[in-house]
Amino acid sequence: MRQLVAGNWKMNGLGADLAELESLKPAIAAAACEVVVCPPATLLARAAWLAKGAVALGGQDCHAEAAGAFTGDVSAEMLKDAGAAYVIVGHSERRQFHGETDAMVAAKAKAAWRAGLKVIICIGESEDQREGGHASEVCFSQIEGSVPLEADGANTAIAYEPIWAIGTGKTATCNDIAAMHRHIRGCLVERLGAKAAAIRILYGGSVKPSNAAEILAQDEVGGALVGGASLKAQDFAAIIAAARKT
Ligand code: PEP
Repeated sequence: MRQLVAGNWKMNGLGADLAELESLKPAIAAAACEVVVCPPATLLARAAWLAKGAVALGGQDCHAEAAGAFTGDVSAEMLKDAGAAYVIVGHSERRQFHGETDAMVAAKAKAAWRAGLKVIICIGESEDQREGGHASEVCFSQIEGSVPLEADGANTAIAYEPIWAIGTGKTATCNDIAAMHRHIRGCLVERLGAKAAAIRILYGGSVKPSNAAEILAQDEVGGALVGGASLKAQDFAAIIAAARKT
């Protein structure tokens, strides 16, 4: 399975930062993996114009409805129209700061497919949940609630992002990552059947040039969702280059 390396710029980036996309083009052209960059929605259309097809783009969230009286929101159709091919849904920062529930995340995933986008559905446990020994059951229940039955390898990737590892510099150990990715694969097969084998399971949480190769070498790691280290083309290019060749 070809790995997917996705960059999540979060609420970072002004027009001048699109120069980073230009610098990324050689790394993407040489990449063994698929690459997608998710800038803020304000930059998507300009990024698409500058990328001229050489950099796949994604949104960071979408509303479940196609259009309507939802001030400040952006629909999956709008992201697609602006040049996106992907959208991230259910990021822990959306779940935590915007009260997004599993049901809302599932509705957003369906909206993405309706608009012709691929979706990256995020799951992951908090530090308290991990320390309490509940990480596996939290991920199981997030998969049951957030991953619609129509998900398959062509329309969906799952991002396992332990919340305590996001933006903290703390990374899960390779053993913990491998064990959780095996568990998530099992949960997906239980929910979706055999087609779940083709769904890529990305790891996210302080992935950087120095740890990317060992994380991306783990069985069942189908790629990475990268926050902070995706903001600088040089760092993101090093992570892209660390993807598995086969
Ligand atoms: C993320 O935003 O999804 C993420 C994993 O962030 P970071 O790489 O900065 O931990």
